[in-house]
Amino acid sequence: MTITDKDLDQAAGRRPATFDSLNPRTGDVVDTHPIHDEQEVRAAVARAREAAAWWGGLSFDERKSRLSTWKAVVTRRLAQLAEVVHQETGKPHGDALLESALAIDHLAWAAGHAEKVLKRRKVPSGLLMANQRATVEYQPLGVVGVIGPWNYPVFTPMGSIAYALAAGNAVVFKPSEYTPGVGVWLARTFNEVVDQPVLQVVTGLGETGAALCRAGVDKVAFTGSTDTGKKVMAACAETLTPVLIEAGGKDALIVADDADLDAAADGALWGACANAGQTCAGVERVYVHERVYDDFMTRLVARARDLHATADPESQIGPITMPGQVDVIRRHIDDALARGGTAVVGGREAVAGQWVQPTILVDVPEDSAAVTEETFGPTMTVAKVKDLDEAVARTNSSRYALGSTVYSRGHGMEVAERLRVGMTAINGVISFAGVPSLPFGGIGDSGFGRIHGPDGLKEFCYAHAIARQRMKPMLPLTSFRRTEKHEQQMGKLMTMLHGRGSTLPR
Ligand code: NDP
Repeated sequence: MTITDKDLDQAAGRRPATFDSLNPRTGDVVDTHPIHDEQEVRAAVARAREAAAWWGGLSFDERKSRLSTWKAVVTRRLAQLAEVVHQETGKPHGDALLESALAIDHLAWAAGHAEKVLKRRKVPSGLLMANQRATVEYQPLGVVGVIGPWNYPVFTPMGSIAYALAAGNAVVFKPSEYTPGVGVWLARTFNEVVDQPVLQVVTGLGETGAALCRAGVDKVAFTGSTDTGKKVMAACAETLTPVLIEAGGKDALIVADDADLDAAADGALWGACANAGQTCAGVERVYVHERVYDDFMTRLVARARDLHATADPESQIGPITMPGQVDVIRRHIDDALARGGTAVVGGREAVAGQWVQPTILVDVPEDSAAVTEETFGPTMTVAKVKDLDEAVARTNSSRYALGSTVYSRGHGMEVAERLRVGMTAINGVISFAGVPSLPFGGIGDSGFGRIHGPDGLKEFCYAHAIARQRMKPMLPLTSFRRTEKHEQQMGKLMTMLHGRGSTLPR
């Protein structure tokens, strides 16, 4: 057993000043980090406020040039970053590389498109206000607090960090207590390029995140569980601090009767089991048209039986990162089996300590935990549906609504249009996350607000509307010079402009 600094502090009755991040594969201490308290978090925000004035005052080009240099540094040290991610999350190297590569692509997009999306632009002023020149511009909010999870410790927070920075904000980032080293690595490399505290990291446990919510930032971008999201929102409500909430999911994958079944089985398995199922927009439920159900299951089960989570560094699935999650996965499997479900792959024995083997559950009641709650493990439920209407209805019945997937040769778009979710991938899984110009986020218990794309840039700005008078108005409507005659003229003008098209009597 490893005795950590936390243990020593606890034994001495002290409030711990540091905490350790552990390697979930081995239990070894990866590194020790300070627990930043309220005062330290406030001090970081105060430093960020000064830095924000400088950073926000740079031109788009000047910010782009610095962000591009940071991007190049991160890219050249990709293997180093992936190693930190691998150490702290336990995920395979290849997966760590993939999420880091996608984050770099987003950084490039955000830096490259900020000016086009946010710069001042002219908008039509309308006939009534034809004497005005109307423009809108998007200004940085100032200091953005980013609170991140551990499951994609680079890709997920960078969806907020890169876009907030490109929009001209300073950022104070609180990484998950399971992946503080990743956050420290990102800030350190940024500071090699920019010598002002434009991106800082505060480390610690949940309390450090709570302190960030109350530290006077101009927005909090939170990614994590729905329950913590509610706490973040409540804390931010005290000071009317706006929030972006990227929370949990229970994403469905629909297999139509005209689907490429090999591709669908491959996508379902990867979507459910990649990163050991610890993916917010991972596949957790599968609805298959009854005409192709048996064929699909044969393909899916054959593939799943070849997939194993092992301690071998080459293993395609790593361990469950967070010890407490294992109990949730076990509870969902137990509940599904107790309520009449069957495990056609995996099952109760699939859960052994931090290692969980792929598990496919069928005949699970739709109101059981395995179908309604986020499992966050390499498991999926598969249900037979009589048609696409039923698949759509079941997909839409979740309180979560983050991503979704449709496999169909001819009806993908038709089905996608009927799904009430933030994102849909057709004939591929989670593909929307890798397209930088597409917004990422959910509705319902999956949260609100968007990272990525133009919406992701605007999320970290406020809109500033400007109406500049070019000539005197035809009618002095906003003046005490307005007379009854002007009001009658306005009435006539309104009738001409908007009064047609109704047959109802006056
Ligand atoms: P948590 O909600 O446990 O934690 C998220 C972050 O919030 C961590 O940094 C955590 O710190 C911090 N935190 C904890 N308590 C508070 C508090 N009271 N005030 C402020 N911050 C606090 O989520 P996980 O880290 O376990 O991440 C997994 C969850 O994230 C899943 O539900 C997953 O679906 C979701 N997620 C959503 C994504 C999306 O884009 N929609 C993407 C990725 C993940 P600490 O770790 O120190 O407790």
